[in-house]
Amino acid sequence: MTIEAPEKPRDFIREIVEEDLAAGRTQRVITRFPPEPNGYLHIGHAKSICLNFGIANEYNGQCNLRFDDTNPTKEEVEFTESIKRDVAWLGFSWGENLLHASDYFAQLYTWGEELINAGKAYVDSSSADEMRAMRGTLTEPGTDSPHRSRSIEENLDLFRRMRAGEFPDGAQVLRAKIDMASPNINMRDPVLYRIRHKSHDRTGDAWPIYPMYDYAHPLSDAIEGITHSLCTLEYEDHRPLYDWLIEDVSVPSRPRQYEFARLNLSYTVMSKRKLLGLVTEGHVHGWDDPRMPTIAGLRRRGYTPSSIRNFCERVGVAKRENVIDAGLIEFSIREDLNRIAPRVMGVLDPLRVVIDNYPAGDTEWFDTPNHVDDPSLGTRRVPFAKTILIEREDFLEDPPKKFFRLAPGREVRLRSAYFITCTNVVKDDAGNIVELHATYDPATRGGDSPDGRKPKATLHWVAADHAIDCEVRLYDRLFKSENPEESGNFLDDLNPQSLQVVQAAKLEPSVRGAQPQSRFQFERLGYFCVDSDSTPDRLVFNRTVTLKDAWAKTAK
Ligand code: ATP
Ligand code: MG
Repeated sequence: MTIEAPEKPRDFIREIVEEDLAAGRTQRVITRFPPEPNGYLHIGHAKSICLNFGIANEYNGQCNLRFDDTNPTKEEVEFTESIKRDVAWLGFSWGENLLHASDYFAQLYTWGEELINAGKAYVDSSSADEMRAMRGTLTEPGTDSPHRSRSIEENLDLFRRMRAGEFPDGAQVLRAKIDMASPNINMRDPVLYRIRHKSHDRTGDAWPIYPMYDYAHPLSDAIEGITHSLCTLEYEDHRPLYDWLIEDVSVPSRPRQYEFARLNLSYTVMSKRKLLGLVTEGHVHGWDDPRMPTIAGLRRRGYTPSSIRNFCERVGVAKRENVIDAGLIEFSIREDLNRIAPRVMGVLDPLRVVIDNYPAGDTEWFDTPNHVDDPSLGTRRVPFAKTILIEREDFLEDPPKKFFRLAPGREVRLRSAYFITCTNVVKDDAGNIVELHATYDPATRGGDSPDGRKPKATLHWVAADHAIDCEVRLYDRLFKSENPEESGNFLDDLNPQSLQVVQAAKLEPSVRGAQPQSRFQFERLGYFCVDSDSTPDRLVFNRTVTLKDAWAKTAK
């Protein structure tokens, strides 16, 4: 995979914006990010956020955060708060422009009456089944509802009574009067309002009718003076309706809709409904489970805002649907953490090594750089003592040809400390290796030999008596196949090994007291982030991502 460094983004939407500004069609660009507060934001939303807020920032415009709360839901407050947090965490600001489609309910209703008065909308009393039967198919035109020819007076009366709460849910709808024979099904007299006797988080019980997305969205754009309304490709077929409403309603501005390809990522699902299912059915531990493709999950996993923004820039904005390799987002976070994460040593699966010629009870403290390439990250002190712990898989009693790590009689370097040579292997009755014995060469203090000896491997380690215990959570992909939806039920594709918990990992003492969200590279193991489940007595780490060339790099 060759990956180019992100530059100043260039894409067809920015070209349109620039042309509109240059031609004076747009004075100041105003975009919006319009989430429906019915779930947490996912990485797909991040693409839309980066695009909408990015364009506003680049062209000195404005991006509104507008909650598309036309559909009352119970959890709205939790979702609204999470969305605000996630957008801000990604590094974007809506300034004064925190808006709600529900603030426009009165105006939207007035425009409903306006359409009725112009003979462009009618109340249909058909049942949902009858309406479905009259809608036609992709190949056959629809048929006119018997209520299509109602008089303006009758329509006004019925719409007002809908609004007054006189009818039960589903008894009536307001429809646009466009064309039941249109080849575009969205233009076959789409529903504009439906009756729903349900409390709304912001408007309470004031409204027994709620506008449809296709009606509320373009008109909300117009109310806010949105210049470029950017949405995903599946709305391309809705654009004629968008334009029809902007044309036929006395709106204060004329926004235009542009469509771009949504982000799809391999080995995951992205629809909010499916993510909600994972949460409510307990397949993950909440919306912010580090295996989730949500912003909250990525944050908890240890992703940085800039890694997500860089990822979105690399993905780019285009007109054609595709699936992005999950490796690309891992590349983006690795690149960021490689620069900023201090290095520490930790052992996930400890094997004791007793250094026979090292004085018992002694401790040496080695000043160790936190980042070899960046002295500004400073140094820390790492203790060394007679008994150390190494990674169990770094020792083989009977090593194959290409195994360069520790083996009987072999010398390796302990990072920043000494060269040691394995002298003896201690086993229990069952034949399991329980301990190694070794000797160290005092002349190699700090990890270099005056005679130029270069062991083939450098191992990470911790001093047994100084190490702190912690829990480490290792994550694998949540789904087994690239496209979990392919096989039918995506739940059948869940990876049963997506979470592996290491209860007794050992870490060098410098990490003691690290706060949640602190990020480290555990040398040779990957990048890790302190989880919010940590307590003052016990740190919990999430592995954000592995090191790609873990062994190759340290084998030199
Ligand atoms: P979902 O299909 O997950 O329920 P949605 O489109 O219904 O998503 P909204 O809250 O309505 O979710 O989305 C807010 C904005 O984010 C919309 O403008 C939508 O087009 C955009 N968006 C949603 N998913 C993606 C995606 N995968 N890639 C890019 N933009 C997206
Ligand atoms: Mg939507």
